[in-house]
This record gives sequence, C-alpha cells and structure tokens, in this order.
Amino acid sequence: NVQDTTTLYNGVKMPWLGFGVFKVKDGEEVVEAVKTAIQAGYRSIDTAKAYNNETGVAQGIRESGVAREDLFITTKVWNSDQGYESTLAAFEASMERLELEYLDLYLIHWPVKGKYKDTWRALEKLHREGRIRAIGVSNFQIHHLEDLMTDATIKPAVNQVELHPLLIQSELRDYCSKHQIQIEAWSPLGQGNLLEHPLLQEIAAKYGKSPAQVILRWDLQNGIVTIPKSVTPQRIRENADLYDFELTADEVEQINGLNENKRFGSDPDNFNF
Ligand code: NAD
Repeated sequence: NVQDTTTLYNGVKMPWLGFGVFKVKDGEEVVEAVKTAIQAGYRSIDTAKAYNNETGVAQGIRESGVAREDLFITTKVWNSDQGYESTLAAFEASMERLELEYLDLYLIHWPVKGKYKDTWRALEKLHREGRIRAIGVSNFQIHHLEDLMTDATIKPAVNQVELHPLLIQSELRDYCSKHQIQIEAWSPLGQGNLLEHPLLQEIAAKYGKSPAQVILRWDLQNGIVTIPKSVTPQRIRENADLYDFELTADEVEQINGLNENKRFGSDPDNFNF
C-alpha cells in the first residue's frame, strides 16, 4: 500500500512513495499540499533548502497531526552551502526551519566539483552523531559515485536522479543496485510533460487508471522510490492510488522502450548553479 517501504542498506526503512514539493510556494500553498498528502497516506516528504519552503513544510507536518516517527523527511544541502563547515551550518538552519530534532535523509543536492567530498564528510559526521538516519546524494552519475566512494567511510544510501520513461537511467540503476544504493526518481512525471503519450494513455485506459498512475506504477514495479509533485488535492490523491492494478512484464518493457535519454532538468556534468 501507500506506506510500503524499502529497506536501505543501513536498515532504515524509506517509503517507496513520497511527496515532492519543488516549486510549491512557502506558506499556505505548501502547508495545504503537505497536509493533503499526509491525509492521503503519504508518509515521506521531499524538500530542499533551495525550495525555500522548509518552514511551510514544518507547519503542514505539525498541522497534519501525524507523529514525527511515522514520517520520513528528506531535505538537501544546496550548492552554495557545500564544504565541511558550511554544510554543518546549513544543516542546522534547515533543521530549525523544519522544526526537527533528527532528519531521515539528507542529500547532497548536486555534485559540485571540488566540494562534494568535504560536504560528504559533514554528512558522515552528522550521521554518526545520530542527527540523520540516512545520508545520500542527488544528481550523481556513476563517475561521481566512484569518486566519492574512494574517500568515503560511509557509502550513500540513496541517489535521487531525474528518471522517467524518457530517461530510464539503465546503467546508473544497474550500478546503484550492485552497490545497494537505492535509486529515487525526481520529476517522475517528466514535470507533467509525459502524460499525453499515446502508449501511456493506452495502458492507462486498459486499467481505468491515469497516465500519471501508470508511470508511478512502473517506478514501483522497477524498485524505484518515486516522489511526484502536485498542489491539486485530487491529483495528490490520484498519485497515491497505485495499489489496485499491476502492469504486465510486457507493458513494463514497452514503457522502457520510450527511453530517449531526454532530460527536462539539468545535466549533472554540466550545470551552472
Ligand atoms: P513531476 O514529474 O512530479 O511533475 C509534477 C507536475 O506534473 C505537476 O506540477 C503537474 O503539472 C503535473 N501532475 C502531477 N500529478 C498529475 C496528475 N495526477 N495528473 C496530471 N498532471 C499531474 O515534477 P517535479 O516536481 O519536477 O518532480 C517531483 C519532485 O522531485 C519535486 O517536487 C522535488 O521534490 C524533486 N526534484 C528533485 C530535484 C533534484 O535535483 N534533486 C530536481 C527536480 C525535482
């Protein structure tokens, strides 16, 4: 069901489905969205310092009435905060905005060259001190992971990357699976751009579901943690209603066949922010 979890290599349980809040405005918009999501059964929220809505996320969580220990909260260290001391400070600032005593998952948002190893040492320290239950990365390619792991004492538990039917990330998924790094899909719906695709519409019609639900089901059947975003209550609920149908192996393969290595977001080897 909606609260099913994957167990990370360090034993921490992480929900397969989470609620993403990129571009959701701080204040009422994010408060209402988070409350609606938690009411719909989501237990995992994905925010970031860069989303400027950690304060509203905290309010939504508080007003949801669901106990802290039943939630899984992710935030991320932003590029301009990378480095050892600055990451430690950025973490404390995020925790204050989020009103949290401990965090479930802290991610390096982007692999900033020359900095991500120092950033990682800060995450390792916070993890060892019990402030963060799991530490991971985002937008890391295989070569970034290899480089990080040459010096790391703790390996990343999660890699959150752009992943959807036009960018199925086969090599990275194989690599992460071999290293017990859980893959998490950002922009799973291609930022809403994939929902008109005829194949997805055809499969959706067959099951009486929506194209968004077909994509999210494809994530789950592939062992991919997924974090769709919406601020529309009906869509928030729709995106969590994934447990009354199952794609056939052939349908999963057909969806894999849509891959074009197409990104809607930035290339992790060439970003300038
Ligand atoms: P998404 O792929 O989740 O698409 C969201 C958009 O799709 C919505 O704004 C809406 O327009 C549409 N949509 C959602 N549900 C729908 C439905 N049921 N029917 C029709 N349309 C629907 O895009 P996203 O927000 O970019 O990605 C999801 C989350 O991933 C973000 O909120 C954020 O938490 C995370 N993310 C992380 C990074 C990173 O660098 N780590 C980058 C981008 C996003």
